[in-house]
Amino acid sequence: MILKQNISLLPYNTFGIDVKADYLLEFFSVEDLQQSLASDIVNGKRILAVGCGSNLLFVSDFKGIILHSKINFITVVDQSDEFVFLEVGSGVVWDDFVQFCVDNNYYGAENLSLIPGQTGAATVQNIGAYGVEIQSLVEMVKALEVVSGVPRCFTNSECRYDYRNSIFKNEAKDKFIITSTVFKLSKIENYSLDYQQFKSEVEKRGTLSLQNVRNTIIEIRQQKLPDTTILGNAGSFFKNPYCSRSQFEVLKRQYAKIPFYPVDNEFVKLPAAWLIEQSGCKGMILGNAQVYDKQALVIINRGNAKGNEVVALAQFVQRAVFEKFAIRLEPEVNYIA
Ligand SMILES: Cc1cc2nc3c(=O)[nH]c(=O)nc-3n(C[C@H](O)[C@H](O)[C@H](O)COP(=O)(O)OP(=O)(O)OC[C@H]3O[C@@H](n4cnc5c(N)ncnc54)[C@H](O)[C@@H]3O)c2cc1C
Repeated sequence: MILKQNISLLPYNTFGIDVKADYLLEFFSVEDLQQSLASDIVNGKRILAVGCGSNLLFVSDFKGIILHSKINFITVVDQSDEFVFLEVGSGVVWDDFVQFCVDNNYYGAENLSLIPGQTGAATVQNIGAYGVEIQSLVEMVKALEVVSGVPRCFTNSECRYDYRNSIFKNEAKDKFIITSTVFKLSKIENYSLDYQQFKSEVEKRGTLSLQNVRNTIIEIRQQKLPDTTILGNAGSFFKNPYCSRSQFEVLKRQYAKIPFYPVDNEFVKLPAAWLIEQSGCKGMILGNAQVYDKQALVIINRGNAKGNEVVALAQFVQRAVFEKFAIRLEPEVNYIA
């Protein structure tokens, strides 16, 4: 393990917020983490697991110890003619794993290409894009309990996955550090192309293949989202809110063109970007934070923004949307005070 003291968190958050942590500990194996959890280095301190910090907003210096996984392996643990089971260390960069699957003709992860972050965090967040969520691939999550250092395996159903949500963001939050995840991928050719006009985008770029699907997604994402190395951001700042069908009917009478995604008989999901844009907040600037003028769901750091400035802008947006639509936007980004 490597322990660093009084460390800048600039390399550990894609928002580019310039704060410090008392300590940062990098762990390289389960045993490494187990020893660290049992030692005085970690004991008694406030802890926070951080991957690439692409879903975090630091509002102040972090008084405690950041645990950063460097567990880096991809192993085939089982397979049949139809499926392969891959165990992946929590420190593996998610997109490296997607490329690995594409290179080996394993189907299922390709729609999640280019989502920033580590694999451990991806299973916390239930990352999703282009009609696929990671929960459809997770077989089991392996973690260590922080207080005891005892290993624990969570089955898919025990992870209690929901839209950008899991047990690791609720009851198990800060109580477990994920060390690896077992994924189930298909060896039989199949694709998820139903999302909006995605199929035609893929077809425009040539014959259907895993690499073509991946390239299409990479191209679309690079056009739509700001590069975090140039403009600090954490991707979608807000979740797309659920709206009851009865409230939706009322809104539809007022706003005939309101877009929606059907969820079930009770709810629809509304695109937060549309609500923000209609509330007049797209491009809005507050201090060094801005609602991105090309994609209203993203808040960017215009340079040297403080976490508090981003929070103030986010709150302004939430109020504006609530006043216009009576819909509450919930941040997807985790605030760390
Ligand atoms: C440009 C951009 C585009 C994005 N696009 C998408 C998208 O399309 N879909 C999507 O779903 N998300 C998207 N995101 C959000 C983000 O990439 C994901 O949430 C990602 O999974 C976060 O990974 P990370 O390693 O950066 O996690 P972090 O931000 O470091 O952490 C996220 C959470 O996971 C916890 N955590 C991290 N590691 C561990 C661990 N080992 N054990 C336990 N808990 C842990 C943290 O404490 C925190 O609560 C985007 C972000 C950016 C910047």
